[in-house]
Amino acid sequence: MAVNARAAMRQADVVVIGGGIAGLSLAARLAGDSRVTVLEAESAVGYHASGRSVAFAHYGLGNDPVRRLTALSMAELAEHAVVHPALHIAREEELAALGALEEVHRAFGCDFSRVGPAEARALMPVLRPEACAAALVDHGSLKLDTNAMLQALAARLKAAGGRLVTGARVEAIARDGAGWRIAAGGETHAAAILVNAAGAWADVIARMAGVRPIGLEPRRRTVISFAAPEGEDVRGWPFTKTVGAGLYLLPEGRGQLLASSMDQTPSEPCDAAAEELDIAIAADRVEQATTLQLRRIAHSWAGLRSFAPDELPVIGPASEAPGFVWCAGQGGAGFQTAPALSAIAAAATLGLPFPEDAAAAGLDFAMFAPARLGA
Ligand SMILES: Cc1cc2nc3c(=O)[nH]c(=O)nc-3n(C[C@H](O)[C@H](O)[C@H](O)COP(=O)(O)OP(=O)(O)OC[C@H]3O[C@@H](n4cnc5c(N)ncnc54)[C@H](O)[C@@H]3O)c2cc1C
Repeated sequence: MAVNARAAMRQADVVVIGGGIAGLSLAARLAGDSRVTVLEAESAVGYHASGRSVAFAHYGLGNDPVRRLTALSMAELAEHAVVHPALHIAREEELAALGALEEVHRAFGCDFSRVGPAEARALMPVLRPEACAAALVDHGSLKLDTNAMLQALAARLKAAGGRLVTGARVEAIARDGAGWRIAAGGETHAAAILVNAAGAWADVIARMAGVRPIGLEPRRRTVISFAAPEGEDVRGWPFTKTVGAGLYLLPEGRGQLLASSMDQTPSEPCDAAAEELDIAIAADRVEQATTLQLRRIAHSWAGLRSFAPDELPVIGPASEAPGFVWCAGQGGAGFQTAPALSAIAAAATLGLPFPEDAAAAGLDFAMFAPARLGA
């Protein structure tokens, strides 16, 4: 499909493609100073990865820059979150990994304690003894209200005069002297700057715009939900996660639990769905690590976590197309890094200096720039 040059034109300064946490958090920052339009293919925001997260912020995942972004984001995240402890458990052969994670918590000044198996079981009474030789309790991790985050950002965008257009799948992108023309939802949008925050589809959007892709890999992750033991109020159980690959488990309300085997199967960008085998593996991991018996899976879902080859976010202008700004590759930490990452992305979009707090945390534009990936 080509962009219809004669269709009525909607003019903006910045068009953001993607109404997930990446696109909305950036657009909300830009609106007010710039005329911003967000184009979202689906009928509601957060339909894909952002609506399928387990909504937790902690230091047990990601690489060092991702953890620095998390640390910078915690204060803002707390606006739509409650403090909920995370219990990082290690079997005997994983004690070195637990020690490394303890160092991470110390380096970031977390409120944490190292505990033995009895204390771990006091917090998480269903743990099998062989699943936990020692554990780390992070007392400051956050259970996020991701829907409230998305809705607050959409409201902020609109209050500042920005536009959010849902049901607007971008189907063609053309470059002209003044910037970009984007065909979506029967309209043509024009803007000097085009931000690619299309999640798992970010490389699809790049190709559509004639921009070199970054080699993004969407990976499917599955979550199951099941009833807690009869009569048990599990709201106080910690978010429990193995230090290595294995399992995480967390309460969802009074009588429900969520679990994932932390699968990460490469996938094409798509409306991901949970597969039977992945559901069975997650259920088996729960029964291996705990005394819980899963008689029935109440619900299951899957979503795509999208990674650049070096597993760092990709933020900044494309080297050969300066008006095309990447905001992609948030992987498994798109919510817990959104406040800091959107500030960096806003500076990159507007050509402003790197945010001071992020610079003080040892981050810079170059580590996130698409140029590092040849894009
Ligand atoms: C099971 C699971 C658990 C997770 N748990 C956590 C967690 O505990 N903490 C955490 O921080 N992160 C977590 N994540 C990761 C987090 O959800 C992602 O990093 C984040 O949602 C990515 O946001 P995004 O906006 O880049 O992508 P998305 O939310 O996928 O948004 C991209 C949007 O672009 C739109 N789009 C694509 N193509 C077009 C087009 N052509 N035209 C218009 N729009 C288009 C899509 O419709 C989509 O809405 C988890 C992810 C999964 C799957």
